[in-house]
Amino acid sequence: MARRHSPVCRLCRREGTKLFLKGNRCDTPKCAFERRESPPGMNTGRRSKMTDYGVHLREKQKVKNHYGLLERQFRKTFVQADRGKGNTGETLMSLLERRLDNVVYRLGFGHSRAQARLLVAHGHVTVNGRRLDIPSYSTRAGDVIRVKDRPKSVQLVQSVLAESHREVPDFLSRVDGTPPEGHVLRLPEAADASIPVQPRLIVELCSK
Ligand code: SF4
Repeated sequence: MARRHSPVCRLCRREGTKLFLKGNRCDTPKCAFERRESPPGMNTGRRSKMTDYGVHLREKQKVKNHYGLLERQFRKTFVQADRGKGNTGETLMSLLERRLDNVVYRLGFGHSRAQARLLVAHGHVTVNGRRLDIPSYSTRAGDVIRVKDRPKSVQLVQSVLAESHREVPDFLSRVDGTPPEGHVLRLPEAADASIPVQPRLIVELCSK
């Protein structure tokens, strides 16, 4: 599994917004973006005026980094959205929100999407009763995502749930039993994303 190795807080400063990549730390005064909003690197502390291309590019990078995807994975999702029926931007955001690692994160089973991805990849969750270790799996309405019924998995997720108090979005519901489980109530929309996004800008950039 390809991984990013650069410090993630730089990404928030680069995009000029909080991307919530470090779990609980993002909601504390220790957040690097709260302490210093200027772009990383040698600069005057101010953001220079962006070109039209720059505005489009930053929106795409913001979304890509927020979901923790590499360029190739993001492009693949875009192509899938472009081939689908309906508005490409809306479909793209829906596909990103439907990813199993994102759903596990938004259910609160992981502090961050990166941790949620590891939970999936290491076999700590099941989907509809079957072990599924593919973070990019696209969940569907009616899917039941349950933590694997073994002490190690249950303890791991329950310790995260005890520490974080993130709200579960409308398109999901969570049952805090043993093991904890979540239900996909409906397909997500762009408005369900946890950061403000302008999908139109991404479509305009990626369609060129
Ligand atoms: Fe971004 Fe979180 Fe780092 Fe703050 S703590 S800069 S929100 S990754």
